[in-house]
Amino acid sequence: MTGRFAPSPTGTLHLGNLRTALLAWLAARSTGLDFIVRMEDLDRVQAAPEHEVRQLSDLAAIGLDWSGDVVRQSERFDLYRDALAMLRSRDLVYECFCSRREIRAEIESAPRAPHLPPGSYPGTCRTLTSTRRQRYLDAGRTPAMRLRADESLAASSSVINFTDLVAGDAFGGVDDVVLQRNDGVPSYNLAVVIDDALQGVTQVIRGDDLLTTTPRQIHLQHLLGLATPTYGHVPLVLGDDSERLSKRHGSVTLAELVDAGASTRLIVSELVSSFGSEFDATSDVSSLLSGVVSSFVIGAITPGEVVYSPEPNAPVGFTLRNAR
Ligand SMILES: [Zn+2]
Repeated sequence: MTGRFAPSPTGTLHLGNLRTALLAWLAARSTGLDFIVRMEDLDRVQAAPEHEVRQLSDLAAIGLDWSGDVVRQSERFDLYRDALAMLRSRDLVYECFCSRREIRAEIESAPRAPHLPPGSYPGTCRTLTSTRRQRYLDAGRTPAMRLRADESLAASSSVINFTDLVAGDAFGGVDDVVLQRNDGVPSYNLAVVIDDALQGVTQVIRGDDLLTTTPRQIHLQHLLGLATPTYGHVPLVLGDDSERLSKRHGSVTLAELVDAGASTRLIVSELVSSFGSEFDATSDVSSLLSGVVSSFVIGAITPGEVVYSPEPNAPVGFTLRNAR
């Protein structure tokens, strides 16, 4: 029984990432679960070892600990390709030659079924003729691999229902999700499902931007005979302009805040305050967190947005508040 935090090593963790990591760790520790960290570095163009080192040291600095070696997705492509081969052998995969731009145009011109997430692929290449396919190959295009979602969903239900620890009852459809990108890299949705299962992850706490893709992952678990973890999708932290938190909102990383004079303990206190847990502000980070663990309940987290505001006069230089 294990919880996890799985960042992409493409930059420095900001307060929103740190808050999600802290919530995932608290949810695991408060229910007696083990906890692991995994690096989702499928995109090796953007991922960098120095980001990984920095992220792990920031997680340790805010008081988190984890078991075992950190697993990297870039070292596990064989596992994802085996799963893809298994789905192919059951005729549940097709080649898609669409470029990003073509998909955008196809989405705009085709009405989307109401149960499908925004940006769902309309299935253009499902019934590609061999002439058309050959034309794409002759033009030097390489295909992405997509799931035949309709054929693989039970005839009785085109919708996947699940209970989210934070968002409550949730449901959504499954489109012809990408399993392997056209550059040969396995897709996030496939890799995450394989890794969670192989690493024994039973509880997934992550940002609520992934809520709408969860039905796709649950469906892949069903197809691959893998157990479905319990999910809890927690609010992202946004800037006061409602955009995702980034550098232009001020000091948003641990290093920037510490440089600006905040102590790590005060930063952790502010993160813990932002989800309403009681804590002893005078203790060090690890005692502070042990106190929080004893009364923490992930289901008590308020869904909705959390807004970061820089406040020069606050002890830590910023505040985090629920938007409503
Ligand atoms: Zn296509």
